Amino acid sequence: PIVLGIETSCDETGVGIVRGHTLLANTIASSMDEHARFGGVVPEVASRAHLEAMTPTVESALAGAGLRFSDIDAVAVTAGPGLAGALLVGVAAAKAYALGLGVPLYGVNHLAAHVAVDQLEHGPLPKPAIALLVSGGHSSLLLVPDVAQDVISLGSTVDDAAGEAFDKVARVLGLPFPGGPHIDRAAREGSGSAVAFPRGKYDDGTLDFSFSGLKTAVARWVEAREASGEPVPVADVAASFQEAVVDVLTRKALQACARYDVKDLLIGGGVAANSRLRALAQERCDAAGVRLRVPRPGLCTDNGAMVAALGADLVAAGATPSTLRIPADSSLPITVVHV
Ligand code: ATP
Ligand code: MG
Ligand code: FE
Repeated sequence: PIVLGIETSCDETGVGIVRGHTLLANTIASSMDEHARFGGVVPEVASRAHLEAMTPTVESALAGAGLRFSDIDAVAVTAGPGLAGALLVGVAAAKAYALGLGVPLYGVNHLAAHVAVDQLEHGPLPKPAIALLVSGGHSSLLLVPDVAQDVISLGSTVDDAAGEAFDKVARVLGLPFPGGPHIDRAAREGSGSAVAFPRGKYDDGTLDFSFSGLKTAVARWVEAREASGEPVPVADVAASFQEAVVDVLTRKALQACARYDVKDLLIGGGVAANSRLRALAQERCDAAGVRLRVPRPGLCTDNGAMVAALGADLVAAGATPSTLRIPADSSLPITVVHV
C-alpha cells in the first residue's frame, strides 16, 4: 500500500510518501528562518507556516513521487507529542485528505515514527530492538518488541533533552539556533578531552539521563573564562560538551542492550544526526557485539517519511484505523504508538 505521511509537530511541515518500506518522496518546508532570531520555535508562527505550506508540500511530494491523489491508499499523521497548534494543522489536513480520498487515517506517535523511519533505509526492524531516542524534546531508552504495536520505556531524561542541551550550550557559545549542527561542526576543530565536564547519572544504575547539570557547568565555565578576559576556546568547549553527552548516551544504550539481552541498537531523533554520537556508538557496539542501526542524518530530524513509514507498518499489521474524531495530543506518551 502507498501511504502519505504528514508531520507538523514543530517547525517542519513534512510530507512523505512510501510504498511499504520503500521511500517514494520526502518533502520538507521549514519555518526555522522565521524562528531563529527568537532563539526558539514560536508556536503561533509555526502553526501559521504549517497552514501556508501544507497544500504546496503535499503537491510537491506527489509530484516528486510521480503519483496522483488517487494512488494514495492511506494517510498517516503525527497526532502528538509536539506543539498543540502545530499538530492541529497537520491532523486537520490529514482528516480532510483521508475523508476526501476515502482512505483510512492513522494518527501516529511522533517518537515511534523517529524509530520506525530507519526501516526505509535498513529494512525491517529486528524484534526486539533497543532504541535510543534523542531529539529536541525527548531523550529515552526504549525496548521495542514491535514498533507498530508495543514500545516500552526503560528510562528517560529527568530534566533537559539531549537536543535541548545542545541548543542551550550553543547559545552560551554564541552559535546560531538550533545549535546541534553548529556544535557538531565546531567540535571537529576541538578536543573532546580539553575540559572535563560532568556526566550526570553516569554510575547510578538506572537507564535515565540528566543533562541540566552539564549545561550549567558549561555556562559557568564560559562565564569564568569571559570574566578573566581570556578568549573562550569555542571548539574545545563544544567538543568537550559533546563528548560528555555522547559518552553517557552510548554507555547507557549499551547497558540497556546488556540488561535486556538485545543485540540490536537503533538510534533515532534529531540528535542521532550527530557525527560524534554515530562514531562512538559504532565503536562501542562493535566492542560489545551489538549491531547498530542509525538512519542517514536527513531522516533523523523531523520529516514526513517517518510518519508514512510507521503508517505503513500499521497498515501491514492490520491496525484499526483512527476515527475522524482523534485529537492532536501535545503530550502523547511514547508508549501509545497510534491513536
Ligand atoms: P521531539 O522529536 O522530541 O518532538 P523535535 O522534533 O523538535 O523534538 P528533532 O527534529 O527530532 O526534534 O531534533 C531536533 C534537535 O536535534 C535539535 O535540538 C537539534 O539541535 C538537534 N540536532 C540536529 N542535528 C544535530 C547534530 N548534528 N548534533 C547534535 N544535535 C543535533
Ligand atoms: Mg525541527
Ligand atoms: Fe522530532
